[in-house]
Amino acid sequence: MKNTHENEPMVIIGAGIAAVYAAESARKAGFDGRIIICGDEREAPYDRPPLSKKVLQEAEEAAHISLRDNAFYDAHNIDLRLGNAAQRIDREARQVEFSDGTSLGYGTLVLATGSSLRTLPLLHPGMPHVFYLRRISDAIALREALPNIRSLVVVGAGVIGLEVASVANGMGIDVTVLEAGDRPMARATCAEVCEFVVKQHEQRGVRIRTGVSIREVTERSSGYRLALSDGESLDADAVVVGIGVVPNVALAEAAGLETCASGICVDGQGRTSDAHIYAAGEVAFHFNARVGRAERQENWHHAVAHGEHVGRAIVCSGPDYEEISGYWSDQYDFSLQSFGVPIGEQNVVRGSTDIGAFVVFHLQAGVVVGVSAVGVPREMRAGKALVRSAAKVPVSVLRDASVDLAKWREARPSDAESASESA
Ligand code: FAD
Ligand code: NDP
Repeated sequence: MKNTHENEPMVIIGAGIAAVYAAESARKAGFDGRIIICGDEREAPYDRPPLSKKVLQEAEEAAHISLRDNAFYDAHNIDLRLGNAAQRIDREARQVEFSDGTSLGYGTLVLATGSSLRTLPLLHPGMPHVFYLRRISDAIALREALPNIRSLVVVGAGVIGLEVASVANGMGIDVTVLEAGDRPMARATCAEVCEFVVKQHEQRGVRIRTGVSIREVTERSSGYRLALSDGESLDADAVVVGIGVVPNVALAEAAGLETCASGICVDGQGRTSDAHIYAAGEVAFHFNARVGRAERQENWHHAVAHGEHVGRAIVCSGPDYEEISGYWSDQYDFSLQSFGVPIGEQNVVRGSTDIGAFVVFHLQAGVVVGVSAVGVPREMRAGKALVRSAAKVPVSVLRDASVDLAKWREARPSDAESASESA
């Protein structure tokens, strides 16, 4: 049967990081058809990490976070259609319908729809003095409000909540962070790194309260009174909520594609259960050959790497995705870097958490599966190499800052087998 869709464009839904890298990589791999990136936000694709950092601090920063300039889209013959949400996929007709009533036919469709914020019914988006942080418009609204806020409650001690707390504290605002779980950054890092992070906040006067949630919210003349689950109450001029995200799977689900709570299910090439539809980035519950199972990653590095992989795979399928990703978090004067699995069965500290110069190796069954560090870039590089080679290194060597790990590894190219000591 003749393929009546062969001249249709590659349509990418979602104009975020994964979308741009998928389009660029498809071009690099030789895709010569039309590429159309369709996003529901009005702005040309931009970078999100600065939203909880520089954009909150300096008014000019928002103008400098575009991922690519117009010349790039022209040179790569990529059309941007912005401010228009995809509402329905007609798989039979291979068409996408948009909120403005238009539709687009596709040869290949890429879903790069990212995530949406989890929200609190008691403090929902749109309420006065309540802020969430995902889009550039959210960051600008918070930046404009911050100078008039004297007391701030941050709900959720995840990466975003703690970055906002550090910016607000730096502006002289009184900050309390409320975390429902038993420790901050419980998904993002191990207890050892967490302890360091908490100390940085507490030393500067930020209060972090764990195991507590909000029971009732009452409006005051300025801001809110929050009644807490432990019986206490707190007054705040404003509240920032950062309690995690959920993948945007609704479009895929309604089209009958295989999805789950963790995202749109795709194979190692990024293909969904429909061979003409792919998913990339944070929305994809993707197969990763390195770990031998499907997973979802919520970080910048993965959005870039998976976008690139999927763009390439659409043109010519190659090896399955096997990237190791990680994240960074900038708070106060430190930057936490994390690569691979962020919490091990065993977490081995090298260096000093007191002076903020340390690396933590995350171990599973004696193998270095992840590394997190503050203030020691060289150790971080060596740690990443250990993670990439799934090395088994004796704990005594990992701990001993006098051993140069790069040299140790060079001297033992088959170090994965060389560990005879496990503690
Ligand atoms: P997204 O960036 O979410 O892009 C998806 C786009 O699709 C969005 O524009 C969305 O509006 C659009 N869309 C959704 N549905 C539709 C539809 N139906 N039609 C049209 N468009 C649609 N990671 C780090 O590693 N380090 C950091 O320091 C860091 N800081 C961060 C700070 C903030 C404030 C945020 C929000 C994220 C941060 N991240 C960080 C995470 C990183 O930015 C994300 O992992 C990354 O943005 C995911 O990229 P994506 O392209 O998959 O999805
Ligand atoms: P996280 O999931 O990292 O943290 C949210 C925290 O809020 C969790 O500890 C969660 O606990 C807690 N929480 C949930 N519900 C409540 C509640 N009702 N009251 C109090 N606490 C609650 O999410 P973030 O919002 O911090 O970050 C989400 C996004 O940030 C990710 O998708 C990713 O894209 C991005 N990201 C940001 C980075 C950065 O800022 N540097 C780095 C990497 C990614 P529990 O887990 O028990 O639900």
